[in-house]
This record gives sequence, structure tokens and C-alpha cells, in this order.
Amino acid sequence: MPRVRTKTQEEYNAYHRAWTQKQKDAFYSNKSCQVCGSDERLEIDHIDPEKKIDNNIWNWAIERRLEELSKCRVLCHDCHVQRHVEDGTFKRSGLLHGRLGENGPNAKLKESQVRRIRLLVALGLKSQRGIAKELGLAPATVNQIIKMKRWRHISEDPEIPA
Ligand SMILES: [Zn+2]
Repeated sequence: MPRVRTKTQEEYNAYHRAWTQKQKDAFYSNKSCQVCGSDERLEIDHIDPEKKIDNNIWNWAIERRLEELSKCRVLCHDCHVQRHVEDGTFKRSGLLHGRLGENGPNAKLKESQVRRIRLLVALGLKSQRGIAKELGLAPATVNQIIKMKRWRHISEDPEIPA
């Protein structure tokens, strides 16, 4: 019997990640946010959260995936967060666990990130230190954002969802 080299776990994982990403890219390639029209950071939003099985559907078999997608619309990340904040389903939306951004040191913050930073701290869901680390910001900068000493023009109080 010729010896067939089997894939290592690492190779298998890389292959699986690439395949999953390909399904995702193909789905989003011709879509845009149904609220604002953006085509950045698109996500699926379950129109009725009660009917949601999972957001992580990209490695599912096609039939099961399409069934889940039929309960969804496409929103950009910011509109998706906004939707769940407004209807009080933010905490269980799974969006909390998402990363705040891809900022490196000294990167510019976006308005949506400033709102989200204030919201997460107001809800007691992330520490200022944790946010600083995640965004590559100085802890003092995050504190100034919370205390409204920076980005004061974004003055909407974060609403506290249930
Ligand atoms: Zn949008």
C-alpha cells in the first residue's frame, strides 16, 4: 500500500477557514446594507431574533444555510448594532463579542466606534482598559472619550438596552 500523507490538523483548519470565507464572500459580493446602502462590514441580521438558530452559518450545508438566510436581511455592522440597541436585543445579539475595530496604534477612531465604546462601558460590558487594549489606544484616551472630554460633538447618550 502506498503511504498517503494525510493533512495535518493545521492544514485542515486552514483549508476549512478558506472554504468558509469563500462561502461568505460569495454571499456578500453583490449585497449592501438594507438600511444605509454601505457595502462595508456586512453582516446578517435575523429579522425576528426569536427565529434565529445561529449567525455562524458559513460552514453549514447549503440547504440548511439557505433556510437560515431566508430569515435574515443584510446590514452593515453599524446599522446592525443600532438595530439591536433600539429594540433592546443587543445583549443577546452576539454582537458584543465582536471586535471593536482593526485599529493599530494611533489609528483614527470612527464615530460609530466612539458610540459603541460609550455604550459598552455604560452597560458595564467592557472595561476601559480592555477597550484601550483592543483598539490600541492609550487608557487615558478611552477615559477622555467616556468622560466626554474627547468626541464631545457625539453627544447622544447611549441608550441602555434591556
Ligand atoms: Zn448600514
